[in-house]
Formats: sequence, C-alpha cells, structure tokens
Amino acid sequence: MSDGVHGGVDLAGAGEGVTDLVGADAGNAALTRRWQGAMMDNFGTPRLPLVRGRGVRVWDAEGNEYLDFVGGIAVNSLGHAHPAVVRAVSEQVASLGHVSNLFMAEPTVRLAERLLRLAGRPDGRVYFSNSGAEANEAAFKIGRLTGRTHMVSASGGFHGRTMGALALTGQPAKQRPFRPLPGDVTHVPYGDAEALRDAVTPDTALLMLEPVQGENGVVVPPPGYLRAAREITAATGTLLVLDEIQTGIGRTGRWFAAETEGVDADVVTLAKGLGGGLPIGATLAFGRAARLLTPGAHGSTFGGNPVVCAAALAVLDTIEQAGLLDHVARTGQRLRHGLEHPRHPLVREVRGAGLLLGVVLAGDAAARVQGAAEDRGLLVNAVMPDVVRIAPPLIVSDSEVDIFLDRFRAALGEALGEVPAAA
Ligand SMILES: *Cc1c(COP(=O)(O)O)cnc(C)c1O
Repeated sequence: MSDGVHGGVDLAGAGEGVTDLVGADAGNAALTRRWQGAMMDNFGTPRLPLVRGRGVRVWDAEGNEYLDFVGGIAVNSLGHAHPAVVRAVSEQVASLGHVSNLFMAEPTVRLAERLLRLAGRPDGRVYFSNSGAEANEAAFKIGRLTGRTHMVSASGGFHGRTMGALALTGQPAKQRPFRPLPGDVTHVPYGDAEALRDAVTPDTALLMLEPVQGENGVVVPPPGYLRAAREITAATGTLLVLDEIQTGIGRTGRWFAAETEGVDADVVTLAKGLGGGLPIGATLAFGRAARLLTPGAHGSTFGGNPVVCAAALAVLDTIEQAGLLDHVARTGQRLRHGLEHPRHPLVREVRGAGLLLGVVLAGDAAARVQGAAEDRGLLVNAVMPDVVRIAPPLIVSDSEVDIFLDRFRAALGEALGEVPAAA
C-alpha cells in the first residue's frame, strides 16, 4: 500500500494493520470487528473504515473510492492530505511540537493575531483549546465571570458534549442521562426573536446561538434574527455568544456566517474547519468579555499547541490565496441549483448557506439515502431522520459537484424505490 505513504508518513496509520486488512476475507469487516472489540460504544459502530484520503476523495480498507461530501463533519476544509497542511505540520513538529502554557510559541500568537484581524475588531483576545465543546466551555465560564448565572440558548441547538456545553445544547435526549447539569439555562425556540425578548433579562449572563443550526439539520433562522439577538442582549448587558464552530472559517462563503447580518458578537467560538483536520478550538472575545478570564481562571495543557496552530495558519493562508470564500459561494450555488433543478420528488427543500446544505426529504429516508449514496461511492451524512447534510471540503471542484449530483440523484431514486436513473 505504498500509495498510502506520502513524504515517509503512513497516512493510513495502518502499519501492520495493512497486512491484516489485505488478508483473505479481511478488509472493512476485519477493522470493524477490531473496533467493536476495543472501542467504547458511545457512537455505535461507525459505517466504514477509511484508510487514506486525497483532496475530496477517500478510500476504505478494501480500496473502494468515495467522493467525500461529509468532510469529517465540516472539518476537512482543504480536503484530505492538502500539501499546505502537510508541510506546515511537518515543519512545525520537526522544530517545536509542544511548549505547554508555561511558555509561548510564535505560531500560537500569529494565529490569534490573524483571527482577530479576520474578525475586523481591534479590541479582541483569543483563548485556544482543542475542540468545539472546549471553545464553548470557555465561553460558558466567561459568562459566569460576569457575576450572572442565567443563560439562554436555542432548542435544537448543538454546542458540545462536556457538561457546560451540554447544558447549553438544547437537545433533551442528549442531556437527560447527565442531569443535573450546570444550571440556570433557558432554551427558547430557534429563530423566534420575540422568545428571545422574553427570555433574556438583566440577570442573563449570556445568550449562545448558532448562526445556522448545523446538527439540528442545517436550520437557517429568518433574516434579522441575529440582529435582534444583538439588540436584545445589548439592552440587558448580556454577552452575545455566536457558536461559529460549524459555520465559521469559510464554510458559508464568508469567514464568519454572522457577517451577513453585520452583527458584532461579544464572543465567537470556532473549531471544526479551523484546523483543516487537526484538533483546535478557539474562543474569541471582544471588549469587556475579552478581559474576564484572568490568570488562573481557565486553561488547557494542549490548547494553542504550535503544530495545530501551524495547521490552522496554513488553512487561513490557503483560503485567502486560493480565493476560497468566493469559490465556496459559487460552488455552493452550483450544488444548490443542481439539487433544485429539477427537484427530486423525494426532496422537500434544500436549505443552508455556501457549502453547508441540508437536503430535507419528504419522510424519514435520510439513512436510506446515505446508504444508497455510499453504495455509489458517495459519502453524505444523515444528520436527522429526514435531513441529509452536505458539507464537502471547501476546495471541491465543479466537476466533483457534478459527480455528486449524479450519484446523489441515483441514491434518492433508490431510496424512493424507483429504478435508479442511468448515470
Ligand atoms: C461540532 C459542534 C460543536 C462541538 O464540537 P466538538 O469538537 O465535537 O466538541 C459545538 N458547536 C457546534 C455548532 C458544532 O457544530
């Protein structure tokens, strides 16, 4: 499997596993059995073992090729094994891989400066962590440091699985087994400005919202919603926290999705697409919110790790140099237009922004569509029983979009019980 090796690095991480996997009836089933024997069952068994990726394509343990329109759940912004990320990570780990928060490293500072410049605001500060949940956990603690305890977030929203982030996540099924959670959180219907007006009071520390609800099935709020959230929180002295973990860093065709509403939040959280596949979380705070964390108040051993920051800098450089924001806007239009003209009878609606789309089905057929797509060499994500999420790498080309449209239409046909259209 020499084609899995780039620059001396075995990207498959498979080493001796390769031998196992090419054995008689080995391959996908063999790694699946090993997973079940060694891993906790919190995810259920994942669909497929993947061993290698290149651009928008990935390969499974039996050499089958897939077009990847999941993108590691909106994480692989530059696709797989992008040379800029590979180079940045390799050079950084070969010179200085980790320093802890007792010392400082230049890539960390450079990334913070860069993110603040992208936010276009001079009064900001950054806290780095390792995941989306941790970025929101930091926002939660910043909220508590206002001296208020009450918080508001939206039903159906997803903000992560650690206890503070979970308290803000408006999904009772995910919360129930872990009660009591850090308290005093009110959940309001998403997209309803009047509900915000009732829930947010001068006792409210923070309001946390996603500009588009990703995990809830790519739900887009009505125009003016984020602006209303800004006005309401400004009036009560409440911090407005925008969770841009899924929508940020180019995913919607802008650096930050909330730019469409011209809203300046007090805190913005980032993660998924920022590291181009490496684990990073960032909490950006502005004005008084930027000064609430003081020495000893919060921390993370790995947060701001220079290797991960170098990867993120490579992502930001590439998005800028390759003009990917415009590319995402244009390619997202092509994708959406292709899904809507003509609209397949199983499709009720296509919603979202840029390269974050939800295909809403007429019935709970998302898992069937996902399976039929996989059989045709296409990875998509059944994010809800009736919604398929599409989040390809930002570098996806027009011709890859066209291949997607062919395969996806055939998958919809199979799920509807039609004879699949000839490709
Ligand atoms: C994925 C996600 C999170 C949680 O990120 P993790 O890295 O899984 O902890 C939080 N908020 C939003 C909007 C997300 O999409």
